[in-house]
Amino acid sequence: MIFDLVLENGTIITMDSQNQILENHCIAIKDGMIQAIFPVDSLTYETAEKIDASNCIIIPGLINMHSHLPMTYFRGLADDLPLNIWLQQYIWPLEAKLINPQFVYDATLHSAAEMIKNGISTANDMYFCMNSIADACSKVGLRVFISEALIDNEQTGNDGTNAIGKRIIELKEEYKDNPLIDFTLAPHSIYACSENTLKNCAKVAGENDFIVHTHLSETAEEVENCLKEHKLSPVEYLQKIGLLDVQGIFAHGVWINEKEMDILAEKGNSSIAICTESNLKLSSGFAPIKKYQEKGINICLGTDGVASNNNLDLLVEMSVTAKLHKALNNDPTLLPAKDAFALVTINAAKALGKEKELGSLEIGKIADLAVVSLQELENNPLYNPYSLLVYAINHNSIRDMIIQGKIVMRNRQLLFVDEQHILEKANYYKKMILKPL
Ligand SMILES: [Zn+2]
Repeated sequence: MIFDLVLENGTIITMDSQNQILENHCIAIKDGMIQAIFPVDSLTYETAEKIDASNCIIIPGLINMHSHLPMTYFRGLADDLPLNIWLQQYIWPLEAKLINPQFVYDATLHSAAEMIKNGISTANDMYFCMNSIADACSKVGLRVFISEALIDNEQTGNDGTNAIGKRIIELKEEYKDNPLIDFTLAPHSIYACSENTLKNCAKVAGENDFIVHTHLSETAEEVENCLKEHKLSPVEYLQKIGLLDVQGIFAHGVWINEKEMDILAEKGNSSIAICTESNLKLSSGFAPIKKYQEKGINICLGTDGVASNNNLDLLVEMSVTAKLHKALNNDPTLLPAKDAFALVTINAAKALGKEKELGSLEIGKIADLAVVSLQELENNPLYNPYSLLVYAINHNSIRDMIIQGKIVMRNRQLLFVDEQHILEKANYYKKMILKPL
């Protein structure tokens, strides 16, 4: 047997349907795919490269289901504010002044690098300048589902009859040979888009098999406004428009009631990307995770952008989510560690319609994985790897990252970008942002 890369002698947390944990095993990769998983010394092979994973666990690369990669340079710029003031007085004016393809490229290079250092192999993103995001993520080696936030309401005068989806079709063609890049369709939210635009999105998504990625019911105010304006709850409104007839990823989902959940469960093609830390910091509320689980609605996790989180650490997101919902429900058995880890792996892959390719370590799947070092004091002793991953681990224990079968980080060193250069850029843009508008 001849492989491109073999990770030798690790403990593999497969996240397969039986949740197998395989000790003293190897993973062999060829052409970006997992070709074999076998016990140490049970197979004779040649390989171009190898990684010694002894005293390590090997996990599926984490999947960040809601992000705004190019917001990096807004981190810590305006904190401790309500969402509407934060958006309207700080973020939107700065974006109007600064956003251009180069800014988006540089900022994405930074956040994509940061995500990889946090064990993330895939991001589901929403922003502007899709080419720049695709090129920056390709450079770093991060897999990304890209979407352009569609914003058109009375203020912009857009009537929603523009060529929605046309750009995605062009970009899918342009990047068809790049396995890291895919696209979704993203009306920003029901409050930032006209009814016409939302209807067009539903139509275009249905015709082209696009996933729709949107913000939904993040704040109580948003729900009240929808009820006032449309006499329907947000989910009922989406149903009327046809946006529940296509595969949907709904970011936040904090204020969704049981009747709405029944609609989502019945339709069965939507997932909720919960952004716990962003919701906590903006004081938006708590997503009803227990109810979602009871109703059988697929849930996963996103960091949101760093302007609201302010980190891109999905491990922390998972830990905070698990602990918060135990406390809220007065139930320490809620969201056990294994289930919490599924939120950032296999559940996320399902939300993207990629459960046959991503989200677990199995033969025939894409080789997106992280090697976690067990050398550190805080990782010992190890009884239960899920417990370690959810409650104990620090992202600095993510030692190596492999995405699409390629090593993109080795011993915490990124292989395709210069971290020092990224830091210099961050300071360059900081100076620009601090200039008066
Ligand atoms: Zn968002």
